[in-house]
Amino acid sequence: MADASLTWLGHASFRLDSPGGKRIYIDPWLENPKCPDAEKEPEHCDVIALTHGHDDHVGATIELSKKFGPLPIVAMVELKAWLKENGAQTDDIPGSNKGGTVEAAGVKFTLTHAFHSGGTPDGSYGGEAAGIVVELENGTKVYFAGDTCVFGDMQLIRKIYAPDVAVLPIGGHFTMDPREAAVACELIGAKRVVPCHYGTFPLLAGTPDELRQLAKGVEVVAVDPGGSVEL
Ligand SMILES: [Zn+2]
Repeated sequence: MADASLTWLGHASFRLDSPGGKRIYIDPWLENPKCPDAEKEPEHCDVIALTHGHDDHVGATIELSKKFGPLPIVAMVELKAWLKENGAQTDDIPGSNKGGTVEAAGVKFTLTHAFHSGGTPDGSYGGEAAGIVVELENGTKVYFAGDTCVFGDMQLIRKIYAPDVAVLPIGGHFTMDPREAAVACELIGAKRVVPCHYGTFPLLAGTPDELRQLAKGVEVVAVDPGGSVEL
């Protein structure tokens, strides 16, 4: 199997290339101010996974599903229904909910808890916000916390899924800042942490250096938008 990589597209958007050659977009807001031009028009997409319905996370989901679909879309049941009503080209499988695991293109996705508000871009109910544990074909597990504050039950994510890599928001204001993210690192227990949801605009002021100072014993793997982390 090929190496897997996680490419940051700015904000909370990621391209995940699996060892089995699948290309997964997580929260593809490709119009975000930090998304590199070369990433704004994807060449290929096998799966889209969404943490919640806010427009800085749904992003280009509907457009990508029309271009490459019908595509599996992993999202909360209400959010997936909203996407279909709004033209997304996807399968007939209902969206899932927290605690359930679904398989798409040979990769496993589990929605987990998150503390954040919900809603879709047009103000409809889009289900609760979630995190996502992605288990790749080779068993590597990546936990995307989504937008959330730190919460004690992150230790259950460690106990049940033991993620190899955790992707955490650190910008503050709408999500955890570095102080909360440092505690999240302890609770989750992943050896490597990829920060996101910072630097998109001045309001999201947390930095990877602040997290490094606070989260001892954790490798904080910060890349510039367009940069990749080998998994
Ligand atoms: Zn957000």
